[in-house]
Amino acid sequence: MPELPEVETVARDLRPRLVGATIVGARTSWARTLRTHDPIAFAEGVAGRTVESVGRRGKQLVVGLSGDAALTIHLKMTGQLFVVPADTLEDPYVRLVLELADGRELRFRDIRKFGKIGLYGRDPVSGELVAELGGAAVFAGIGPEPLSDAFTLREFRRRLRRRKGRLKSLLLDQSFVAGVGNIYADESLWRSRLHPLRSASSLRPPDERRLYEAIRGVLFEAVERRGSSIDDYTAPDGDGSMQERLDVYQRTGEPCRRCGRPIKRIVIGARSTHFCSWCQRLSAADRKGARAILRTISGGGVRRGPRWTELAGEGSLGLTADEVVRASSVARTERTRRAAATRRAAARASIAGRG
Ligand SMILES: [Zn+2]
Repeated sequence: MPELPEVETVARDLRPRLVGATIVGARTSWARTLRTHDPIAFAEGVAGRTVESVGRRGKQLVVGLSGDAALTIHLKMTGQLFVVPADTLEDPYVRLVLELADGRELRFRDIRKFGKIGLYGRDPVSGELVAELGGAAVFAGIGPEPLSDAFTLREFRRRLRRRKGRLKSLLLDQSFVAGVGNIYADESLWRSRLHPLRSASSLRPPDERRLYEAIRGVLFEAVERRGSSIDDYTAPDGDGSMQERLDVYQRTGEPCRRCGRPIKRIVIGARSTHFCSWCQRLSAADRKGARAILRTISGGGVRRGPRWTELAGEGSLGLTADEVVRASSVARTERTRRAAATRRAAARASIAGRG
């Protein structure tokens, strides 16, 4: 799922294309894409408004519209946005279209249909987005932007010291810090040499500083590299390149770039978590109560079950069980990467004209 750097890249690519454009209508082919309105009310709600800004809050795009309104666009797993001439052939995965007065269209393409688009009012004084009737602020529960100047080490410490729980889950919690998801949580923890299951309360001041610098550093670098084009993420100006620089994410079985030992994978809260068990140690205290999670480990070098021994016997060219597991895991990741790259290329091909 696109995280802060990916959504930031989409916002930057869309800004020069959309700011100043006037929306004349909207077509929705999958009504559940709309978070706040039915398709007719949505089309009426956006028609006649001009795009004033394109920004981001956490993992969502925020398109500021004239008349104190705004759209939020959550790409979720497979959402993609393209601006194209209206006569461009529309592929079956386009769920919503904003028609622009100048003959172009903003198309929301979303294979898995988890993406959400909302239309809200904007408080003219604070600029905060509010639901039309309830009046509750849309981003009220979202934590600070990690790349903002207001997100200082002092502020990070203050927030961290109020929290319990383990680091991976904490970093994914959008009320703790906005925009970090699975990729950059794993990368930040590897960079700061902290185990994903480490309890937040056990961090010493130098650990806090390393984690703070790692979060900011990896997100900043990823924005510079236009995000990680993993799975279906692509932006109007093309794919990102951060995926080539990731140290642990989806590198199960590949050598750690610091110590050479294989990267491990465990499942925490149904999410894959990638780390180096040598560089990111876990204390005995934190190990307690995490045994069920640690049993999900894969990546070679720890468990030697009979299934793996069996694998090693089949045409393994003298490889050890660990090496076979590692090789098959790497091959699986490579297949997943190739399939995703093919899907992104297909998306691009189906959106022939570029806006
Ligand atoms: Zn390592």
